[in-house]
Amino acid sequence: MGEHVHVRVWDGLSVSEGGELVEQSHCRCGATWSRSYRADDGPPEE
Ligand SMILES: [Zn+2]
Repeated sequence: MGEHVHVRVWDGLSVSEGGELVEQSHCRCGATWSRSYRADDGPPEE
């Protein structure tokens, strides 16, 4: 198989039972990503 560059398609945000924001995206090859962070922490920032 040749190299494949994932193209992330934004699926949107949802809120988990634990109150975390979950950001989901996928590639048409079937790969998926999810990233969660606490809503009260805001976006990661140094
Ligand atoms: Zn892909």
